[in-house]
Amino acid sequence: MSHQDVLRAAGLTDGEITGGTLAVRSPIDGAEVARVTETAPADMPAVIARAQDAFRAWRTVPAPRRGELVRLLGEELRAAKDELGAVVTLEAGKIVSEGLGEVQEMIDICDFATGLSRQLYGLTIASERPGHRMMETWHPMGPCGVITAFNFPVAVWSWNTALALVCGDPVIWKPSEKTPLTAMACMKIFDRALARFGDAPEGLVQLVVGGPEIGEALVDAPEIPIISATGSTRMGGIVGPRVAARWGRPILELGGNNAMIVAPSADLEMAVRAIVFSAVGTAGQRCTSLRRLIVHSSIKDDLVAKLVKAYDSLPVGDPRADGTLIGPLIDQASGDRMQSMLEQARSEGGTVHGGGAAGGVSGGTYVKPAIVEMPAQTETVRTETFAPILYVMGYETFDEAMALHNGVPQGLSSCIFTMNMREAETFLSAAGSDCGIANVNIGPSGAEIGGAFGGEKETGGGRESGSDAWKGYMRRQTNTINYSAELPLAQGVKFDI
Ligand code: NAD
Repeated sequence: MSHQDVLRAAGLTDGEITGGTLAVRSPIDGAEVARVTETAPADMPAVIARAQDAFRAWRTVPAPRRGELVRLLGEELRAAKDELGAVVTLEAGKIVSEGLGEVQEMIDICDFATGLSRQLYGLTIASERPGHRMMETWHPMGPCGVITAFNFPVAVWSWNTALALVCGDPVIWKPSEKTPLTAMACMKIFDRALARFGDAPEGLVQLVVGGPEIGEALVDAPEIPIISATGSTRMGGIVGPRVAARWGRPILELGGNNAMIVAPSADLEMAVRAIVFSAVGTAGQRCTSLRRLIVHSSIKDDLVAKLVKAYDSLPVGDPRADGTLIGPLIDQASGDRMQSMLEQARSEGGTVHGGGAAGGVSGGTYVKPAIVEMPAQTETVRTETFAPILYVMGYETFDEAMALHNGVPQGLSSCIFTMNMREAETFLSAAGSDCGIANVNIGPSGAEIGGAFGGEKETGGGRESGSDAWKGYMRRQTNTINYSAELPLAQGVKFDI
C-alpha cells in the first residue's frame, strides 16, 4: 500500500493532503507524504468564538447524554482501528502493534469516560449550622485547548477530549506539526460519531493545524480556561507561566527521565524483559521510556551482559514489517541528537554498547538502541534524550539507589525490581520515588488508562486519563442551602440588625 493509499483508507481526500503549506514527512523513508493547509493565525479568534458558543450549548446537555457522544466515538474507533493505526505507523513510525495499541488506548478511555458521565460526583458536607445543608457541585469549566506531541499523536488527544466532552467542555486541538495527518484522520472518525449523535453544537471539537504560534494563540486566550499541553519541558516552561499569567488552568504533561532500580533479589529474567520493552519500545520515544538503570553492583555485570545480548538480536527496521520491534526515529535531527549525547557520555567516562546506525528503509533514521555504562549520574544522564539510550549505574546501598533515582529534574515514571518487601514498600512510600507513577516488578512504560497519568517536578504536575483526573476539566462549586427559618452565621458571629 502506498503512503497516500494509507491516508485515503483513513478517509482523507486528495484535496486535503495536497496544496497546503505544511509538508508532512513519514519517518519510515523520509518521503513527503502530504502538504496540508495550516490554520491562519488570523482565523484563531473565530475558532475561539465558535468554541465559546459551543460551550454555552454543551454545558447544559445532561452529562450522561454527553457521554453518549463519547460512547459513539468509541464505537467508531473500534470500526476504524486498523485504518487509524496505519496512519500512526505512517506518520509517527510506530510498529504496527504499537499503532494499534494507541488506538486501543483511545477506545479504552472512551469506555471509561462514558461510565464517568454518570459519576461526576460531588460531596455532601455536614454544616455546623442547624437547618443547613452543604454540598459540592462540579460544573463544566469552558473550552479546553489540547496541544499534543508527535509521539502519541492521537491517544493524548483522546485522554483529554473524552474527559472534556463528558465534563461539558468543547475542545480545540493543536496536534504536533509533525503529525497533523493522524489528527485529521481522527477528526473524520469523530465526525462520524457526531453525525450519529445528532444534535451536538457546531464547533464542539475543532482542529487547528500549525506550529508553536498557533499553540500560543490558545495559550494566550483568556476565553480558553484550560490548556492541556503535552511535550517537552522546554515547551512547558513557556506555556505554563503564560497560562498562569492570565489565570488559566494549565495541565502540563512534559518530559520524563524514568528509572528502574534492580535490587539483588530481583527476578533477572523478568527484569530483562521489562527493561528491553520499556527502553527500546517506540524506539525510546515514549515519555515513559526507561532511560536510567540503577543496578546493585553485585549483579550489574551479569545484567549488562544479558541486556547487551538481548539488544544484539533486536529487529530494527520498517515498522510495517512483521517481526520488527524497533522502527525509525522521528527524523534525522533526533538521530543527530542521539549521537551527540552518546559522544558526550563517552567524554564523561561512559562505555557505550550499540547505538550506531541500523539497517532500515532508505531515507529513514534507524538506529541500534544503546546501553551506556556510566561512572556517575552526570548532566548527560540527567537530561531527557528522546531516543533509545539506556544509562546504567551501579549502587551499593538502597539509600544510594534512592538518591540516584530521585536525583534528576524530571518526575514522571519509575519502578523497582525486587523480591524484598521492605525495599518495595519503601520505594512506594513518602520517602521513596518522587514520581507520579511508581511500579513494582513491572517497567515504567505502558500505563493503563484507569490510573491518573502524569508526573512531578519538570514533568509539569498535570494529571490526565483515569482516577479523578476529570476534576481538572470542571469547576468546583460549594453550595450552602438554608432550609430553616433562622439566619445563623458561621463561627458563631453575631450581626443583629
Ligand atoms: P515539543 O515540545 O517539541 O512539541 C509538543 C507540542 O507543543 C507541539 O504541538 C508543538 O507545536 C507545541 N509547542 C511547541 N512550542 C510551543 C509554544 N511556545 N506554545 C504552544 N505550543 C507549543 O515536543 P515533541 O518533540 O512533539 O514531543 C516529545 C516530548 O514530549 C518529550 O519531551 C516527551 O517526554 C514529551 N511527552 C510527554 C508526555 C507526558 O504525558 N508527560 C507524553 C508524550 C510526550
